[in-house]
Amino acid sequence: MKLKHILFFLFLAQIGFTLLMKYFSYEGDNSAELHTRILKYFTEEDIQSGTEYDRRGFFVSVLSSLLDFALAGIFVFTPISERLENYLQKKTKERFYLVVTSFFLVFYLVEFLVSLPFSYYFGFVLEHEFQFSNMTLMDWVVLKSKSFSLGLVFGTIGILIITFVLKNFPRLWKWMVPAISLGFGLIASVLFPILITPIFYDYHPIEEGSLKTKILALCDHAQIKVENIYVIDESRYSGHTNAYFTGWGENKKIFLYDTLIKNHTEEEVVSVLGHEIGHWVHNHQLIDIAISTFEVLLLCFAIGFLFQKAKGEGLLPLKEFYSPSSLPFLFMVLSIIGSFTQPISSTISRVFEVEADREALNLTHDKKSFISTEIKLAKDNKSRLNPHKFEVIYEHSHPTALERIEMAEKY
Ligand SMILES: [Zn+2]
Repeated sequence: MKLKHILFFLFLAQIGFTLLMKYFSYEGDNSAELHTRILKYFTEEDIQSGTEYDRRGFFVSVLSSLLDFALAGIFVFTPISERLENYLQKKTKERFYLVVTSFFLVFYLVEFLVSLPFSYYFGFVLEHEFQFSNMTLMDWVVLKSKSFSLGLVFGTIGILIITFVLKNFPRLWKWMVPAISLGFGLIASVLFPILITPIFYDYHPIEEGSLKTKILALCDHAQIKVENIYVIDESRYSGHTNAYFTGWGENKKIFLYDTLIKNHTEEEVVSVLGHEIGHWVHNHQLIDIAISTFEVLLLCFAIGFLFQKAKGEGLLPLKEFYSPSSLPFLFMVLSIIGSFTQPISSTISRVFEVEADREALNLTHDKKSFISTEIKLAKDNKSRLNPHKFEVIYEHSHPTALERIEMAEKY
């Protein structure tokens, strides 16, 4: 069987699988046993509202996926990418990096325009319907333009660096790309809170008071040095709640959503932070970076091999490996491999989350606040309380609220 046919077959299988997962996700797990377990902590209305929020815009999301697949199929299996590159070559008088940039611009714009109505529907219309969003239409347009411009700038820089490496280091690129992505990952984790967060949020150091004292005591107890604790104004966008750590070494910062502070007791905020500290104590971020660097390395070898094989067959319209018109092919191969490996990365992530939850309990010895936090978080974010088992295994990065509560009960 030719590689082109295998790729086409896998592509169709990926579409079928995506639709099947959407169906499972819609259905959830309706077993009576689970229902009774959930009702120990939640009400029928909680289950109902989580299900409704999870099912929001189901048919529109199916349509959106199908459109994405159609677009990918057209770019890979028809000569359109090759023709576009030839056209751009003529227009730019064969200036290679200009061709790369303009090809990427076309690709990025098409993708943006196709996804715009969906993003408006899910990110604005439905978020208002479920009373999460606090944005006016203008706020949403501004937010969207900011993320569009950032994607454009970083995407262009990324694509130029990668094509430069692919073109000039035909043997070494497989080692260089993972090294570069590692470097960028590390730099980004330091620069993100300094450069990117301020574009989207206003944030200020947490006020002096009992909450700050409790957080510092917790960090002290966990022997973690924190440079500062910030409160960011998520409430200008939505009612969703969150907290996270950024930076390395002495440079660590804690970010708390103002929505978290508003809706939770101080003990509950401390419990959430205990979880974040758990990630630090167990070096989850470092392990994540190591795993993803290794993953990029394997992927480079895989796509290098597959591209040569596909080009050798001559059945797909492929130019050089570093040609911009090869990008859709490379993206498709990556996305297919990704759909096989996703359950692995989701499972690793869930294992880490359980570890962080245990650490939160170790640090705070406050089972009651841990459980009340989980209940509130699930209610406030309208979490699906009865997701389908397959969906959890395949794509959930966190255990379900009920699993986390039951873990704490047994602790
Ligand atoms: Zn976590």
